[in-house]
Amino acid sequence: MRSTGRPSKTSGETGTHAPPDAPLAAFDRAALERWLAAEGVPSYRGGQILRWAYQRGASSYEQMTDLPIALRETLASRMPLHLPVLEERLVSALDGTRRYLWRLADGVTVESVGLPANDRLTVCFSTQAGCAMGCAFCATGEGGFVRDLGPGEMAQQVMLVGADFGQRVTNAVAMGQGEPLACYEATLGGLRLMNDADALGIGARHLTVSTCGIIAGIERLTDEPEQFTLAVSLHSARQATRDALVPAMRNQPLPRLRDALVRYADSTGRRPSLEYALIAGVNDAADELSALVEFCRGLLCHVNLIPVNPSEGTAFESPASGRAEEFVAALEHSGTEASIRKARGVDIDAACGQLTQRHALRTESDVDRLV
Ligand code: SF4
Repeated sequence: MRSTGRPSKTSGETGTHAPPDAPLAAFDRAALERWLAAEGVPSYRGGQILRWAYQRGASSYEQMTDLPIALRETLASRMPLHLPVLEERLVSALDGTRRYLWRLADGVTVESVGLPANDRLTVCFSTQAGCAMGCAFCATGEGGFVRDLGPGEMAQQVMLVGADFGQRVTNAVAMGQGEPLACYEATLGGLRLMNDADALGIGARHLTVSTCGIIAGIERLTDEPEQFTLAVSLHSARQATRDALVPAMRNQPLPRLRDALVRYADSTGRRPSLEYALIAGVNDAADELSALVEFCRGLLCHVNLIPVNPSEGTAFESPASGRAEEFVAALEHSGTEASIRKARGVDIDAACGQLTQRHALRTESDVDRLV
């Protein structure tokens, strides 16, 4: 299952340019099949490998008993198979949300979150270890950028969270650590693994890319054949406020961002989401609301308002009671759909990056105790 529609569009060449010999998690399907072809191995072996790796969670090539022994040995020596190792798992007593901290093959850590709701299971996965965007309210940004993840490292997070719940993953969102469109090829490869019937088999419309607003990336995503869903972290429709909150987007002017969203909506027929973390005294005043209403007027979109939870180390405060409802009312009055996102897993830390940061702090205090 590659796509849910619009086959007439041209696709960019898939995903990663994994080095000739690299861990399996660095490959998307197209790169894997290119590697196999260069070795004279038929492409259907790629599907077999994906099914073992992403449907059965194989931890070694020895388990892939329908592959020839010689191929298994070649793969084991030249394309190592590593599964992320669980470092920490927190379960919300309030709503069953689970947060995970994984250690990857080279020792870096990333987080994922599993959000159960009735018969649905949504997984929020990371696309990078750390992040270079430096958003003002984000613990991950404070820690800086480490590296991009490979497509398989993204799909493995989703697979392992589904396995932990013992439930099929119905939705996946690139809303963990990292800016997915800053590592476009890897993210696209990861989404395609999640969509692939030989891997995770999640419908493209149930796979969401959440970006700070990298315009060139939105334009590329618009032109992909799959109907992936788009969410943009807007946080303010006034350039100066947005520049302060999302400093890496200073060179991405709001009018051009809006144009890209119009083209995405027109071209895909999909409605992008605009995320708006509502912060007292920062972006909750009347002029901010007016700017947001004007930005959205006539744009096919849905605004998600997220009243912030003050977290350790930030000066941000929650908006006054009822302010988020006033934003929703004004947006809906002007014809834009809006809702207030219910906070999930607040007892296990709501803001992205907090699990990694706390883990790092704990490790440092452990070291302090030892020396
Ligand atoms: S909010 Fe997302 S994009 Fe911004 S610094 Fe945090 S991880 Fe990066």
